[in-house]
Amino acid sequence: MDKIRFEDVVRKVERFQPDADLDVLRRAYIFSAKEHANQKRASGEPYLIHPLSVADLLADMRLDVATVCTGLLHDVIEDTLTTLDELRNMFGDEVAMLVDGVTKISNLGKVSKAEAQAENLRKMILAMVKDVRVVLVKLADRTHNMRTLGFLSPEKRKRIAQETLEVYAPIAHRLGMSKTRAELEDLSFQHIDPEAYARLKEDVESRRASTEAFLEEVRSRISERLAAERVPFLRIDARIKRLYSIYLKLKKQKITLDQVYDLAAVRIITPEVKDCYYALGVMHQYWKPFNHRIKDFIATPRENGYQSLHTSVIGEEGAHFEVQIRTEEMHRIAEEGIAAHWKYKEGKGKDTSEDEMMKWLRRLVESQQDADAREFVDSFKLELYPKEVYAFTPRGKVIQLPTDATPVDFAYAIHTQVGDQCTGAKVNKRIKPLSYKIQNGDIIEILTTPGHKPSRDWLNFVVTSKARAKIKHWVAERQRQEAVELGRKLFEKEIARLKLKPKPSPEDPKLEEFRRDNGYPKHEDMLVAIGYGKLLPKTPLGRFLPEGKLEELDKAEPSRLQQMTQVVKRALRLGEDRIVVVGVDDVLVYRAPCCNPIRGEEIIGYITRGKGVGVHATRCQNVANLMVNKERIIQVNWVGSGGNEPYAVKLSVMTEDRTGQLAALTNIIANIKTNIRDARTDYSLQADGVRRIDLTVDITDVHHLERVRSALKTVPGVIDVERVTTPQTQSGQIR
Ligand code: MN
Repeated sequence: MDKIRFEDVVRKVERFQPDADLDVLRRAYIFSAKEHANQKRASGEPYLIHPLSVADLLADMRLDVATVCTGLLHDVIEDTLTTLDELRNMFGDEVAMLVDGVTKISNLGKVSKAEAQAENLRKMILAMVKDVRVVLVKLADRTHNMRTLGFLSPEKRKRIAQETLEVYAPIAHRLGMSKTRAELEDLSFQHIDPEAYARLKEDVESRRASTEAFLEEVRSRISERLAAERVPFLRIDARIKRLYSIYLKLKKQKITLDQVYDLAAVRIITPEVKDCYYALGVMHQYWKPFNHRIKDFIATPRENGYQSLHTSVIGEEGAHFEVQIRTEEMHRIAEEGIAAHWKYKEGKGKDTSEDEMMKWLRRLVESQQDADAREFVDSFKLELYPKEVYAFTPRGKVIQLPTDATPVDFAYAIHTQVGDQCTGAKVNKRIKPLSYKIQNGDIIEILTTPGHKPSRDWLNFVVTSKARAKIKHWVAERQRQEAVELGRKLFEKEIARLKLKPKPSPEDPKLEEFRRDNGYPKHEDMLVAIGYGKLLPKTPLGRFLPEGKLEELDKAEPSRLQQMTQVVKRALRLGEDRIVVVGVDDVLVYRAPCCNPIRGEEIIGYITRGKGVGVHATRCQNVANLMVNKERIIQVNWVGSGGNEPYAVKLSVMTEDRTGQLAALTNIIANIKTNIRDARTDYSLQADGVRRIDLTVDITDVHHLERVRSALKTVPGVIDVERVTTPQTQSGQIR
């Protein structure tokens, strides 16, 4: 291979982009040369040869200056001490973004080792790139590496070639870049199975002279006949097919080279579309179409934009050959694919290219005919509307998850048991919270503890339905067990209180009747209801007492529950009858501290285990999780006038940092006759010039709160007033 010189690259760029910024290109070259100065390739040559060759390939594809610069700089993040910020400062956002993209793709390949991952890796690459040019640079990078693969060890060669064949050649194919694909495939084939490659090459070579003579003959006859029929054409290419495609054909059809009928291929390039059809007509006039193998990819282009007429014909001598007929423009797109669309266009700038790109993608979306294509389109849609992330297990297995997925989702995606026993996660070897949002390409190691059980708090951040369902299942299961235990204890205690002898057995007909009448299939279901506080144990057990005896006992001795209710109500400073549970008497009620609901707010009740009914404001963050157990949700209402007992409500005021601000705030609160329990300034964690002042005030109801809030907002300098509630789940309180 001839040595590439930077000036040649400059000339190529200059030729197609006369107004290009060549200065930035030169700076990129000098920088790359400096950074890679002491590095050598496996061939012993200076490393700089590699980025320069990649840039040259990109210049040949007539890509814009930013892309060619990226070719020059694509390895500096990976292989030198340069940081992304430095690149951004020197070459701007666009180049930095492209280099970053190429670096990320390169790192992906190092992680994924399993062969079965190729498909995932391909999808992931397409999903990760925000700009198609990143893929074009990566393909150029791979092309040059494949060309110089011979200097590496046989194992390394094989691995890289395998990855190229399974990941990069299909990407090139999907992007319509048949020239790149062909080169990558033939080079891969050569390194993956050197013997088969050599054997086939020899076989083909031995037939070369005769095949070429035949092709030459065919070519001159076609051109004679096209001329005789006055069909315009630009040229006729005749060639022997490339080795890898012959190899695939032999393998697929289990035949030998002698049986390959279309070793040769002829291509007719015409000036206009109509000429393609004329040419096809002429071909069929003189050569018989074989096996009805006519394909019109002009009327129905392939998903990757490929257009051409295909036919296989059989000549007088019985020799078969394949003919492709297309215009020059179709040919260019067939060879270069998406790169042809990205190309810099003189006088039009890049906006047009992006338009073209979108057109190209749209056509892809519209022409999705087979499942494979649909998958490809889906992966492109991901890129346009990112909805999925891909992460790795430490062994390189790819796990596909929705955006915002967390290590817990990841753990459940691996296995239910891993999810259930998950106690921590390392992301890229660092411990991260279980609520961490997974990024594309993260390597995630799940730490498990045998016997550990899922936590209800996980429901606050998991996004996959599998994780959600498993956690809910377990939470519900655990709560049910606990409710059974509690219910059993309360049931036993009530038996003791009522002095029932002998102890009623669960099979007792009276209990069976009670369960049937009240819809409890089993004894345990009844205990659950007791445990949840929905059923008082005296209700079923009262049936074992003579008429009137239960009322008598209740009057003589208020139940423990009733006594406790009174104590708790007093302790919580709950005035009489402020909140009632609809349809149930004698139930402990307390306001949940996480949201601290105040009179007038919309509320719901949640039956806790043994602590009565927790009352939450419907705005409370915990309510969504409480809904896991719908049967424990109960309707509660505010009743009565509310008396004089105020609620302590904490407000956080964000204000400009002015002197006398605290005084101004307390003053206005005093003006509307509101008691202040506490006021303090928080100097930490605020933005410049902003101060936070926390006020705890006595509030009688939701209207009063609104008055205080609006009054505070009238103070000059106040930016916002927020009600402070405990952000985290207070597990102990809501269970
Ligand atoms: Mn490279």
